[in-house]
Amino acid sequence: MELHFNEALALSYKSQPQKIRVMSERWVEDNMYCPCCGNLHIMKLENNKPVSDFCCKGCGAVFELKSKQGKIGKKIIDGAYKTMIDRITGATNPELFVLSYTADFEVKSFWLIPRFFLTPQVIEKRKKLPPTAKRAGWEGCNILYEKIPAQARIEVITDAKVNDKLDVVGQYNRIKKLQTDNLESRGWMIDVLNCINAIPEEKFLLREVYAYAEELQMKHSSNHNVEAKIRQQLQVLRDKGFVEFLGKGCYKKIV
Ligand SMILES: [Zn+2]
Repeated sequence: MELHFNEALALSYKSQPQKIRVMSERWVEDNMYCPCCGNLHIMKLENNKPVSDFCCKGCGAVFELKSKQGKIGKKIIDGAYKTMIDRITGATNPELFVLSYTADFEVKSFWLIPRFFLTPQVIEKRKKLPPTAKRAGWEGCNILYEKIPAQARIEVITDAKVNDKLDVVGQYNRIKKLQTDNLESRGWMIDVLNCINAIPEEKFLLREVYAYAEELQMKHSSNHNVEAKIRQQLQVLRDKGFVEFLGKGCYKKIV
């Protein structure tokens, strides 16, 4: 896999965002396989939209590309808040590719965030543009990566090191078992996974997860039995092979 952008492609463009767009899109087309099914190539979709969308002819997955110079950090800027929420709640949102590159135009990291791990709770509204702005009142959004469980961050490239393709496809297909189109269930899954991830030990007790009950209650105010919901999510995680029940309120993470 070539990690450098083809800089010659950018010569005829003036604006930096345009240059980056052209170079990063071509990089994906020339180098990326489909992380969902392992198909050798993915194609750019010619949709005349201001977003970089790709699709896999093998499995039909659609991907949106977000690029950023430097570290990916805790969040990345996305487009209009309302469009984003509509896409998520309408279950038409694409899988997300996140690419970071160095000042020398070398790909540093490349992640896949599966679409079923995007919920309104990981989308942050940005401040409305001021009345003096060209698009006054327009509201953008950020995607908060830090709120997405580590299991759902599938790293194709880590620190300029290309990870094994079979591992990447395997990781995607493992996490896909948690897929649900029900937004509320998706939200609970993400929250309970984050609680478990926050417990440093491999083995943990049910009461350690219950310690987050108050926090979870605030996020899900209409739920009246948070502890039961936690137990239900742990059962789902057990059935899907992410947690093992050891008995007597004791659990083990399966990584
Ligand atoms: Zn595919």
